[in-house]
Amino acid sequence: MDNTTKQTPLTSLGEFGLIDRLTAKIELHHKSTVKGVGDDAAVLDYEGKQIVVTTDLLTEGIHFNLMYVPLKHLGYKAVVVNLSDVFAMNAQPRQITVSIALSSKFSVEAVDELYAGVHLACEQYGVDLIGGDTTSSMTGLTISVTAIGEAAKKDLIYRKGAQVNDLICVSGDLGGAYMGLQLLERENEVFKVNPQEQPKLDGYDYILERQLKPEARGDVIKALKTLSVKPTAMIDISDGLSSEIIHICKQSNVGCAIYEEKVPLDFQTRKFADELSINPLVAALNGGEDYELLFTVSLADHDKIKNDPDITVIGHITEAANGTNLITGAGAAIPLQAQGWNPLKGEKGK
Ligand code: ADP
Ligand code: MG
Repeated sequence: MDNTTKQTPLTSLGEFGLIDRLTAKIELHHKSTVKGVGDDAAVLDYEGKQIVVTTDLLTEGIHFNLMYVPLKHLGYKAVVVNLSDVFAMNAQPRQITVSIALSSKFSVEAVDELYAGVHLACEQYGVDLIGGDTTSSMTGLTISVTAIGEAAKKDLIYRKGAQVNDLICVSGDLGGAYMGLQLLERENEVFKVNPQEQPKLDGYDYILERQLKPEARGDVIKALKTLSVKPTAMIDISDGLSSEIIHICKQSNVGCAIYEEKVPLDFQTRKFADELSINPLVAALNGGEDYELLFTVSLADHDKIKNDPDITVIGHITEAANGTNLITGAGAAIPLQAQGWNPLKGEKGK
C-alpha cells in the first residue's frame, strides 16, 4: 500500500457504494453470460456444453502476507489460481465471481488496487466478472474466487485417466514460486529488524514473478490442441510435483517413475537454492504454487510433443504395484511423498 496518497475509509462508501465502485467498469464479453452483476444471481447459458466450477479461498496471514505482497498482485493471483484449475480440466474459463471480507484497516484506495489486479486478470484471460459478495471482517482480508468454465464433454480431462507406459509431462519449470517466496520472506525478516535496509532482490526477477504474479497455462492447453494431443490425465501444480503426481496415480490406479534430472528448474531457482544451501529439486517436489500443468500422454503422442520447448517429459507411468517413485541420477528409486501444504494439519503456511 502506498501510504503517501490519500486513504479514504471504507465507511465513507458503505457496502453498496463499494460494490458499485468495484463493479462499475465491468464489460461482459461472453455469450454464455446472460446476466452479470446487479440482480440476486447471475444467469448463464452454455447451450449444451459441460460446465466446470472451481473455487479457492485465500486468507491474510495464512495464504499471503501483505508486508510484501502488493494488493494488485494479490487480486491478479487470486483469479489466476482458479483459472489454472479450469485449464487443468482442459476447459476454457468464462466467468468468475469474487467475494471479499475487509477489515477497517483497508481503505477504498487499497480495495481499488486489489480490484485493479482482479480486472487485469479478467482482461488478460478474457473472463467476465459476474458477481460476488462483500462483507466486513475482524481480522484482515479474505478473498474467495469462483471460476466457471466450459468444455465439450469429449474434451474434459480428469485425474483418473493415466495408463501404464504413458509419458509424464510438465509445462514450464518448477520450484520457482517457492524460491521466490523464500526470497521475499528473507528480505521481510531483514526489513523487520532494520526498516532502512533496501531489500536485495536484484537478479531474481523471474522467481519473484513466479511467486507474486503467476500465470495460468491456457497457452499450453491451446498448444496441445494444435498438436492434436489429448492428455490422458491432467492436474495443475498448486501443491508441488510430488503430491500432484500422487493424485494422478491414486485416481488412475497406477504408479510412476519420475527422473530426478529431467525435472525442469530455472537458473534463478537453482541459484537461489544454492545461496540457501537447499536442493532446488525439493522446491519443485514440495514447494508448490507453480501453477504449471502436469499431464500424461500416450507413448504414441511422443513425437508430437517432443519439440515443444515448453513441455518436458519427466518420467512414465508404471503398474500400481511399483509405487510412485523418484529415480535418482544414480538409478535409485525413492518413494515420493505428498508433502503438499495442509493448513489443517498445522504445518507451516506458505
Ligand atoms: P445480495 O444481497 O443479493 O447478496 P449484494 O448486495 O451483496 O447482493 O450484491 C449486489 C450485486 O453485486 C450482486 O450482483 C453481487 O453478485 C455483486 N457483488 C457484490 N460484491 C461483489 C464483489 N466484491 N465483486 C463483484 N461483484 C460483487
Ligand atoms: Mg451479498
